[in-house]
Amino acid sequence: MKIAQEKKTSPYDVLIIGAGPAGAAAARTLVKNGRRVLVIDKKSLPRYKVCSGMILDRAQDLLLERFGAPPETVFCRPSMLNGVRLSMSGVTFADLPLKKKTIYNVWRSEFDHWLVMQSGAELRDEHRLIRFHQTETGVHADIADPDGALFPIDASYMIGTDGGKSLVRRSLDPAFEKKIHWSSFVQDYCYAAIDLDPAYYYMFFDPSLSAFYTWLHFKDDFLIYGVGAAAGRPIDPTFRDSTRYLGDHFGLRIDSVKRRTGCMVSDIPLHGRFHLGANRVLLAGEAAGFMNVFGEGISSALATGHMAAVAVCRAGESGQGALAIYSNLAEDEKQATFKSWESAKTLMPRIGAESDGKPETASG
Ligand SMILES: Cc1cc2nc3c(=O)[nH]c(=O)nc-3n(C[C@H](O)[C@H](O)[C@H](O)COP(=O)(O)OP(=O)(O)OC[C@H]3O[C@@H](n4cnc5c(N)ncnc54)[C@H](O)[C@@H]3O)c2cc1C
Repeated sequence: MKIAQEKKTSPYDVLIIGAGPAGAAAARTLVKNGRRVLVIDKKSLPRYKVCSGMILDRAQDLLLERFGAPPETVFCRPSMLNGVRLSMSGVTFADLPLKKKTIYNVWRSEFDHWLVMQSGAELRDEHRLIRFHQTETGVHADIADPDGALFPIDASYMIGTDGGKSLVRRSLDPAFEKKIHWSSFVQDYCYAAIDLDPAYYYMFFDPSLSAFYTWLHFKDDFLIYGVGAAAGRPIDPTFRDSTRYLGDHFGLRIDSVKRRTGCMVSDIPLHGRFHLGANRVLLAGEAAGFMNVFGEGISSALATGHMAAVAVCRAGESGQGALAIYSNLAEDEKQATFKSWESAKTLMPRIGAESDGKPETASG
C-alpha cells in the first residue's frame, strides 16, 4: 500500500466514519457545539444505499427538528405516500397505524448527501477507514485516499457510523462479530406494472411465501420489490417465489429489470444485543445494531448519531466517560428497538432463525 505524502492534518475533535444518516446526525450536533469534525465515506457521494427510502413518523420529526425540511431534489415520485399496507393473504390488506398522514419517499443517495452537507462538517468521500487504535487521549486512524494511499488522522474521539457491516465494530470486538447471524436481502428496480395503488408502500406476509417478508413500492419510473430470505434458504428461489406470488395475486407484469441490488442484514436488534463502542470509539446507527422492525432504520440512525455526539460533548465538559453517557442516553432506544421486533414476530415466524447465507446474485 502507498503512503500518501503531505497529508498530515492537525488533530480533529471527532472523526466520523460513514456519511449515512447516523454520521450526518452526529456531525451536525458536534459542529453546532463547536467541535472540529471530519466525516469520511469510502464511497463517492452521493452514493447508492439499498433502501426503500421511506421516511416515517419519528424520522420525519427528527429530520425537521435537527435538519429542517429537505429540498425537493431528494424526493422521488410520488413524493408523499399515504401509508403502509400489510397483506397477510392475497388481496386482504390492513393499514399500519401511523402518526403522520404521509410518508416521505426519497432517494437515499440524494437524501443522505443533503443531510451530511447540512452538517457543516469537513467531508472527504472516497476515503476509507483501514484500521485504528486507541490511546489514553484519543484515536489514531489510518485512512486510504482515492488512490489507495494511506495517511494518518488523529482525533480525540471516533464515531463509527459505517453501517451494518461496520469495520469499526468488527475491529473493536471480533468476538461479538462471530455471534452475529446474517440474512440476505435483494431488491429489483423494474420497469413494470401491477394492480396496486402507487400511493402506498406494501408488505406481504402470506405464510405461503418462502420470504420472511416481501415488500413493494414505486420510485419515479421504477416499480421496486424485494425479499428477505428465510433462514437457510437461498435468495434466488425465494425471490422467484415472491415474483410468482405478486403475479398471481396482483397481476405483476415486468417489462425489464433495470438493476438488482442486495445486502446482508444482521440479527443484532432481534436479540437486543446492541454494541455502543469501547472507550473513545462510539458506534451509532446500524453499526451499533439499531434498526427497527420491517427494516426502518433512519429514525434510529438520526437519533443515535445525535446521542453519540451529545455524549462526546458532555464528556468533554463533565469529565465522565463518553461511552457511559452514551449508554445512558441510548437505553430507551435499545428497549424500543428490541420491542419493535418482538411485537412483529407473529407476522414473521421465520425471522430470528439463524442464517449465514450469502446473496447468490446480489451486488451493491
Ligand atoms: C432493503 C432495505 C430497505 C430499507 N428501507 C428503509 C426505509 O424505507 N426506511 C428506513 O427508515 N430505513 C430503511 N432501511 C434501513 C436503513 O437503510 C438503515 O438503517 C440506515 O441506512 C442506517 O443508517 P446508518 O447511517 O447507520 O448507515 P448507512 O446508511 O449504511 O451508512 C454507512 C456509511 O458508511 C460508509 N462506510 C462503510 N464502511 C466504511 C469505511 N471503512 N470507511 C469509510 N466509510 C465507510 C458507507 O459507504 C455508508 O455510506 C432499509 C434497509 C434495507 C436493507
